[in-house]
Amino acid sequence: MEYRIFGDFNNREDYEKLKAIIDYHMDRYYNKDNPEISDFEYDQLMINLKNFENIHPDWVTPDSPSQKIGGTAKREAGVKVTHNVPMLSIEDVFTKEDVSLWIDKVKSIHPDALFSVETKIDGLSMTLRYERNSDNRLELTMGETRGDGLVGEDVTANALVIKDVSRYIDLDCQSLELRGEVYMSHQDFIRYNQEQEELGKKEAANPRNLAAGTLRQLDPAITKGRGLKMFIFNVQSGPQELVTSHTRGLSVLKEKGVAVVFNRLCSGKEEVIAAIDEIGDMRGSLPYDIDGAVVKIDQISYRDDFPAGSKYSSGHIAYKYPPEEKEVVMESIEEDVGRTGKLTFVGHVYDKATGKPARLCGTSVSKVTLHNQDYINEMQIGIGGTYLLKKSGDVIPKLCGLVTPPKEVYKASTVCPVCGHKLVKDENMSDIRCINPSCHAQLLRTVSYFVSLNCMNIVGFGDKYVESLINLGYINDYADIYGLKEYRDELVEKGIIGKEKNTDKLLNAIDNSKSNTPDKLLTALGIRNVGKSTAKEIMSHYRSIDELMNVTAEELINIPDIGQTTAESIYSFFQDEDNRKVLNKLKKFGVNMVMPQTTASSDKLSGKTIVVTGSFDNYGRKDVENLIITNGGKCTGSVSKKTDMVIAGEAAGSKLTKAIELGIKVVSIDEFLSMIS
Ligand SMILES: [Zn+2]
Repeated sequence: MEYRIFGDFNNREDYEKLKAIIDYHMDRYYNKDNPEISDFEYDQLMINLKNFENIHPDWVTPDSPSQKIGGTAKREAGVKVTHNVPMLSIEDVFTKEDVSLWIDKVKSIHPDALFSVETKIDGLSMTLRYERNSDNRLELTMGETRGDGLVGEDVTANALVIKDVSRYIDLDCQSLELRGEVYMSHQDFIRYNQEQEELGKKEAANPRNLAAGTLRQLDPAITKGRGLKMFIFNVQSGPQELVTSHTRGLSVLKEKGVAVVFNRLCSGKEEVIAAIDEIGDMRGSLPYDIDGAVVKIDQISYRDDFPAGSKYSSGHIAYKYPPEEKEVVMESIEEDVGRTGKLTFVGHVYDKATGKPARLCGTSVSKVTLHNQDYINEMQIGIGGTYLLKKSGDVIPKLCGLVTPPKEVYKASTVCPVCGHKLVKDENMSDIRCINPSCHAQLLRTVSYFVSLNCMNIVGFGDKYVESLINLGYINDYADIYGLKEYRDELVEKGIIGKEKNTDKLLNAIDNSKSNTPDKLLTALGIRNVGKSTAKEIMSHYRSIDELMNVTAEELINIPDIGQTTAESIYSFFQDEDNRKVLNKLKKFGVNMVMPQTTASSDKLSGKTIVVTGSFDNYGRKDVENLIITNGGKCTGSVSKKTDMVIAGEAAGSKLTKAIELGIKVVSIDEFLSMIS
């Protein structure tokens, strides 16, 4: 197969570039648990690379991604452990013909060969070592991650809190080594992300990455709380009855209460392909993600006759399911508005062949995201048009091609479908949004955001309360939360925020937030592109929100790190009549709009060279630097032996490390402030 998506096969530079691209994605996947591309796209890049290498075998060096397994066991806090049996990968095949060819090859040498076809769980591999203990029981002594395949990380403490991991196994042998896949169910994954969203924290990209991050947690209590699961798929070493027939070994383990992977024992090609199809039909309805089907030779002693190179397990192949495609008809298009006011489009589709929702990977699909007007124009989306719809494993269904164009391409509304406010198109962006701060579609989310940790930080103001208060008409924009105390008795009587004590506690927290520094307020306004750190940077240049309200976009661009788009979104936010009304309301309620005054000048820091690193809750870095200068000190950007002191804030990085190495005094912002006060 001459598959190519990148480069010219005869250009060595293109080959090197592709290697670098794959290395980058490998690192995101294995070490950062945060991939940017789907597995399918990643596989395509690897096929592309292998094609380069098939044509130019002399270019291949040991650092090629095709020669490496990927992850390196580099977590600093972890203890490294050398595997007794290397934890190898399985070679992928992408067509059923390749599966058949491989079976023919096996059968030609061992006509009596049998095969186990298993689900390939999309998680991360872990090996479990068991040893007979002094009480004469076979006990778990070690759980190890794959790492680079030869050396992994000791995660025993975390393995022990996984329910599916048996601490003891009732078998008559001295030692046993099992390998399996640790994964996270869809349910636990969704629960985790909901909690993260409520906390205003980063959500996990997919269950596999969350499982990987969870297994490597330093605190087993966290691992336990998130609910990992595990299926055993291999006996690495153990007593004869477990390592003769693979499926027999799995069923012995199952009898002993061990959770083993779904497996089908097959005698030939037809049965293997049927089992692959069976798993393929199951995959959309399993409570966890799978990324293929594994075919293994059941007789373990035969496996070494089919070596697959140093990187792959002998006698194994993994079949990767292709993304499924169906031709669908666009029946209707629905508009909605998100938290940021962005207009969203959902296409309702049905299978052209059946007139029903499209069956893809075992699930029914009747809705598809249509992103934005540019996408709609480009894909020529409109009522009655037909398109190819695709879904692969865990990936969200998406349209992947036009079959027959509609009579008319869909055109987005000009007013908000929820509040009727005129919609605005983003400069240089394809999104259209409703910028009415009182738009009810956005209200629950704008208010929840307004009160969240990085914004006004009103502790105890959960979504449930926000929702009830909106539904009962107490909140019509985020400024209204400061008027809630006028309804205190009513709220207590109705029990909306609990009883007296709880209501007063929340009302107090709301009141206290009025004195926050205005960078928190600026973040809370939810202006596009203005997050916590941008807001801090901006407010270090202005004395108050009022001053900021009256600057032009051109002035804003002069601030470091503020680009054209951000400057324009700030400017247009403050120009909007409705936004100004809400800001005036906030001011009337006594919400602080003025930056704290820096302390008077002194010579307390005279002759001192100081480095500021990290970020601070109530001060921009510029503020701190100004304080140093007004108190007679000198600021520099890098740490050296000449540095007298380092002021370290949140997320201080290499500068802090260097200061510690050089034995330079490190102080917190509070210590610093008391030095100059
Ligand atoms: Zn609206």
